[in-house]
Amino acid sequence: MPIDKKQIIEKESAVVDGIELSADWNRMFEQRVVHYEDNDALDKVRDLDGAESIGWCYQCGQCVPVCPVDAVGEYGPFRTYKDLLMGVDLFKSDELWKCTTCMQCLRVCPKAVDMVQIMPAVREEAVMEGDVPEELQEAFENTFEYGNPLGESQRKRADWIQETGSEVPLMKDKKEADLLWFVECYPSYHARGKEASAALAKILNTLGSDFGVLGTEEKCSCDSQRLAGEVGLFEEFAEENIKTFSKYKFKQMLVTDPHALNAIRKKYPEYGGEYDVIHYTTYLAPLMEKLEMKNTLNYKVTFHDPCYLGRHNGEYEAPRSILRAIPGVELIEMGRCKEQSYCCGGGGGGMWLDGFMADHVSERLSENRVKEAVETGADLLVVCCPYEVSRFEDAVKSTGNEGKLLVKDIAELIVEAMG
Ligand code: SF4
Ligand code: SF4
Repeated sequence: MPIDKKQIIEKESAVVDGIELSADWNRMFEQRVVHYEDNDALDKVRDLDGAESIGWCYQCGQCVPVCPVDAVGEYGPFRTYKDLLMGVDLFKSDELWKCTTCMQCLRVCPKAVDMVQIMPAVREEAVMEGDVPEELQEAFENTFEYGNPLGESQRKRADWIQETGSEVPLMKDKKEADLLWFVECYPSYHARGKEASAALAKILNTLGSDFGVLGTEEKCSCDSQRLAGEVGLFEEFAEENIKTFSKYKFKQMLVTDPHALNAIRKKYPEYGGEYDVIHYTTYLAPLMEKLEMKNTLNYKVTFHDPCYLGRHNGEYEAPRSILRAIPGVELIEMGRCKEQSYCCGGGGGGMWLDGFMADHVSERLSENRVKEAVETGADLLVVCCPYEVSRFEDAVKSTGNEGKLLVKDIAELIVEAMG
């Protein structure tokens, strides 16, 4: 009910100890906006679809100590938010490219500030303006031109099969299979990726799995390109891959790469492609007892949880269950493991930003992680993401740990035990 101002006894003017106090008593109830900062830079970000949550930050700072980039430099959503309040134009800032979309901050943020959506939304605008680090632009162009970020010929995408010594049937020949194995780019082209693919092919054949691959019909899942801001490229490739999948009959899709898992499981349904898709560790874990292990390995191993298998897709147990099933393997966990796992630095486009990041961090994330692995006393760092073998092998060399730590894909370890 409105207050009748006549009921209020108010002096026309009041001066107390020389200070003018008279005023309309009701002024304090009027709506007003108080600004301490210029909000333009913040508004420009939170107005983007998907980036609204940056405005929810209440500056508790919990995200900073868990951010893997902050361990080697200054970073984290709290810092990004403060920068925006200070008027930093994130669209033009180097800060835009440091986030690996590892999801650690979202795990602890009480306000659900979601960098996994904020960063791609801002990056998409920067990409459209051409404000992209050179090496990332090159990966985009390679993907556009060749169907993979490595810039390898599409015609050679199935060449790894000849090197395996195993039977790897093509879907175009068999048309139908229980498993469609989506191999992805690094496992098809990269030297160490191909070795892991050969190992997985051998395991699948030993298990008698009915599987087929797309060979030269397969194109990059483009999840990391999407997270790095190339949404148009992602959409185009998703539609092409879905069209290719629709030519064949299969019950389940098997993926080597957790980034492909993420794309096909979470994003492809938006383009009409719904599949029962699983990572190869999830597939193999319950089948390990069917594999005869001739060799006892006597390895102390430590395991790196890929961000896009663990935090993003909730799979922590399958790789550990596989390791437990290999005779002679002792698993020593790193302090930062499972939900709290550190990041290799390859996600969200980081795979193609090592040169750029070198100017912004004291050491690579992969180097920081390798040092932690060495500290466990393990002989082997076991991985199950195709970005990681090469990243960690480089980091073993650059941190002077050659001879102390080997890096292997979990499929390679299984094959070694199979003999
Ligand atoms: S944890 Fe969330 S609310 Fe707290 S500072 Fe970080 S982004 Fe802001
Ligand atoms: S997603 Fe990961 S790298 Fe990005 S800000 Fe959050 S914790 Fe840091």
